[in-house]
Order: sequence, then C-alpha cells, then structure tokens
Amino acid sequence: MTLAAQNFTALDVGLTWRNSFAQLGKRFFTPLAPWPLPAPYWVGRSASVARELGLNALWLNSPELLQVLAGNQPMAGTQPLASVYSGHQFGQWAGQLGDGRAILLGETGGLEVQLKGSGLTPYSRMGDGRAVLRSSIREFLCSEAMHGLGIATSRALCVIGSDAPIRRETVETAAVVTRVAPSFIRFGHFEHFCHHDQPAQLKILADYVIDRFYPACRASAKFSGNPYAALLEAVSERTATMVAQWQAVGFCHGVLNTDNMSILGLTIDYGPFQFLDGFDPGHICNHSDTQGRYAFDQQPNIAYWNLFCLGQALLPLIGEQELAIAALESYKTVFPAVFERLMFAKLGLLDASANTATVDQGLLQDILQLLAQDRVDYTLFWRRLSHVAAGTHAPSVRELFLDRSGADAWLLRYSERLALIPRGLAADLMLETNPKFVLRNFLGEQAIQASKLKDYSVVETLLRLLESPFEEHAGFEDYAASPPDWASSIEISCSS
Ligand code: AMP
Ligand code: MG
Repeated sequence: MTLAAQNFTALDVGLTWRNSFAQLGKRFFTPLAPWPLPAPYWVGRSASVARELGLNALWLNSPELLQVLAGNQPMAGTQPLASVYSGHQFGQWAGQLGDGRAILLGETGGLEVQLKGSGLTPYSRMGDGRAVLRSSIREFLCSEAMHGLGIATSRALCVIGSDAPIRRETVETAAVVTRVAPSFIRFGHFEHFCHHDQPAQLKILADYVIDRFYPACRASAKFSGNPYAALLEAVSERTATMVAQWQAVGFCHGVLNTDNMSILGLTIDYGPFQFLDGFDPGHICNHSDTQGRYAFDQQPNIAYWNLFCLGQALLPLIGEQELAIAALESYKTVFPAVFERLMFAKLGLLDASANTATVDQGLLQDILQLLAQDRVDYTLFWRRLSHVAAGTHAPSVRELFLDRSGADAWLLRYSERLALIPRGLAADLMLETNPKFVLRNFLGEQAIQASKLKDYSVVETLLRLLESPFEEHAGFEDYAASPPDWASSIEISCSS
C-alpha cells in the first residue's frame, strides 16, 4: 500500500481549494498522498459541517466521496501534505513530532480539511499511521459536542470505518476522521522552528498566522510595532477563554501537550478526554497520566505553562523578554474573569453588583465544595438546578447529595438570592448555560459498541442530541442520565 491513490482520476465535488499552508515552504511539510483504506464504509456524518464547507450534503451519501475521504482517490484541487512540528509532552521537550497520521488536503472556504488515520508519514515515529474506530468515533462526536456547547473546537465532517485490523492493546479496526478547522497550526509548530534555529521560518509562520487570523495584531496600541507580542497576548486570551469554558462545563482534555494546543485557541486532538460524571476536581481522565499532570483542576495552570512555551518560541521575534511576559499576563486576568462569568451564569446570577458580590462568591464556593465532597453528578446537578429556577417539574436536586442537610441549607440560601432576580431571566440563562447532554464516556462507549456491530444509529442519535445539548429532546432521557455501573470499568488511555 503506497501511493496507489494517485492512479485514480481526481474527484471534483464542487469545492474551490486553496493551499496556503503548502505555500509556506518545504521546511514546513512533506507532500504525500493518504494511504488507501480497504473497503471503507460510512460510520458518522455531519450535515452541519458539510454546510460550513459549502459541500452539497448529497455528497455525504455518495460512494465517490467515501472513497476520497478514505484516501482511496484524490480530490481535485488539493495538495495533500503532512506538516512538521515539535513540542513538550508531559512537561518534557519531546523533539520533532509532526502529523504522524494526519494528512492536510488543503483549504476550502477558509477551512482546512485533514484526514486523520490516513497512513504513515515521515513523522509517524513508532506509530502505524492509523487510528482505530473507537477513538475516531470519540473524536467525531466530541468535536460536534463541543461546537454544540459553544466551545471553540476543530470540527469533524465524518468518520469512515474499515474492517482492516489495527493492533493496539487488542486487535481493533481502522477508521479515518475528516477533521475541519480554520487552521491546525499548534504551539508546537512555533517551538519547532525556534528550537531548530530557523528564524526565517519562525517569522514566516508567525506572519502567516497574524495575517490570516489575527490581523489586528499589526495595529496593536499596547504593543505598537511588535505584532508578535500582540499575537502572544491574543493567543493567551483565546486560550484562557477556551479553558474557562472547559472548566465550567466539566471537560477534561487529557493530553495537554504543547503539540495539542491550537494557535487559534481551538480544542483539538481529542484522545482520552472526558466530561466529568461525579464532580471530582482532581479527576485524571487519562490512565496513562500516572502523575495527574493533566488532571481536571490542573488544566488552567497547564494551559498557562504551555503558553509560556509558546512565548519562549516567539521570543526571537518579540525581542524583549519583558514584552513576552507582559503579553502572557492577559491570561491571568481573562481566565478568572471568563470562568467567574460562566459559573455565575450557571447559577443564573447575571446581575452581580457590589451588594451581592460577596453572597454570590460564597454561594459558588460552597456549592463547588458540596459537589466535590459528595462527588455529585456535575451535569445533572446544574441541569436540575436550572429547572428549579424555572419552576418546572423536575427531579429533586437534594437527592443528588449524600449530605442532604448541607444541600438543603445551600438551596435555601440560593433561593433567597434568586428571589432578587426576575425568575424567567435567571432560568433562561441557566437553561442555555447548563447542558442536558454531554458526551459522557459511557455514551461514547455505547456508540462504539453498536458501531462495532455495524449499527450506526447510536452515533447518529448522539450527534443529533449533542448538536443542540441545551434542548430538552423529550424521549431521550437515557442519554442524559448518570452513568450505569458498568461504566466505571471503562478505561481511557492515550492508545488511539
Ligand atoms: P497525540 O498524543 O495523539 O496528539 O500524538 C502525538 C504524536 O504522535 C503526534 O505527532 C501524532 O501524529 C503521533 N501519533 C499518534 N498516534 C500515531 C499513530 N498511530 N501513528 C503515527 N503517529 C501517531
Ligand atoms: Mg496530537
């Protein structure tokens, strides 16, 4: 299996392709075609991502597009490539990495399209270039779930499966995810050119990112004449906002290495991620993370550590260390401000004034402590509380706690505070801030198990629910429930 794909005529699906990354220069990538995937079949498809791309949704039923996105036939107008980057993994410099199993087709309508799991590249190191069905379904569903939650993320057009065997801890089967994002450039791309002492490439990369995505950096008043410091500040702010949203919704990424950090502040590289079930601030979702470096409550600090690495990589362009430090400072104000705003929104408290600030802070701190103490289901709690505020008939909130008197005391204080706000306003805010549906591990597992039996209906149902997670979706209560007992045996590692 080599470059056989090039023997086929290219398919034209009516998209206009640009390949701006490919124009950065040969030090940035290796041109190469995806490997063919034997006997591919559709596993999951997103009509909403097709719309974003300007792709006629009918193509998502076509055997031709299936072959193209499986890597079996070229797409007209694309220039497939694998990019090189480096990075820090688990706090250590890891040296050269790169797209070890992802191939960038090009960019259409301002969005890059990547095939993940599409074969060996020069950057595959010890890997086989493939991805398994299990992790591909998780990435597909979680990308769309995060988007539904309003959190910046790469998207996923589809998952394509094949019965080709792939060896992990056990033998599994192969899959390819078509991922979509304005750019897949990572902190690690900058670290690569800094570390390998290639200042010209570092500048080309930074200028490319600024011109395409952060044009305002050229006119920054604060960092006048230093667009690179302004870039670092802008990335810090986007990253701070993204991580604050993760913390508010209870999302644990699992592998926050600098090569998994998007320069656009997008959530990328879904691996051993998890939405919290019971609220455990120190939760470690990745079984390979023995030290808990990437535990849930470490994420805000780790993101800052990663930004510091980006700052070091940009230093040759920024010039003065003080400027880089000043640019990073924004993280320390934006993260707590966004996090607090989101947490108060979860409580329906939208009118924080000097009069109520102390009460509100107390309510927030105390409920987080009670939730942690009893490992209360995080998503269920907030959704039920929203229904209490709305006055709708809903299951009891206090029953989620072991410490019922503690819960009662807090709920009383909370209802007194809520009485100061127009009910409808608070309830509306809460019902659009506290999702009913998140991609819990057990739901992903159900989709995976059914798909292994060639039943893709669970993937389809989950996609529909997670695309609009704040809607009630009557009749789908099982998908909004706390995990069944068997779920505790699901182990999610880096293996994907
Ligand atoms: P990750 O932890 O999944 O973000 O991957 C870290 C690095 O390993 C990246 O350079 C990936 O492209 C590469 N990688 C992960 N899995 C594989 C695989 N099965 N084959 C080739 N490269 C891989
Ligand atoms: Mg990665």
